[in-house]
Amino acid sequence: MLKEKNPNQIKPTELKRLGDTGFRISWKDKHISEYAFSYLRRLCPCAGCSTVRNNGQDVHSLFSRIEVGNPSEIDVKQDICAVEIDLVGRYAVRFRWNDGHNSGIYTFEYLRQICPQSQNEEL
Ligand SMILES: [Zn+2]
Repeated sequence: MLKEKNPNQIKPTELKRLGDTGFRISWKDKHISEYAFSYLRRLCPCAGCSTVRNNGQDVHSLFSRIEVGNPSEIDVKQDICAVEIDLVGRYAVRFRWNDGHNSGIYTFEYLRQICPQSQNEEL
């Protein structure tokens, strides 16, 4: 189970595309997260991808926390890349992928939870 974070710590101060390979977020608490596009695509938070990662079980209910499931269930192209990255309000980003998929809204809270650099970090 992923830990709850203090909301003040999950405000980004900078969002930066890293060429065709990934995306970096600098956070208010000075933490820096770097995500490969393939990693983000596999962890797409949309209902369809969540269901695939959880073996057909729909976990996208208002009453359940987001469970990441098994990212390797998602088929990802070798050259997966974000075609467009848009801000959604002030709370999320949306990636439009070069495989045509774009239904995932990645909230900053979710992005911080899946940060590859904070798996063992105590906040
Ligand atoms: Zn998706």
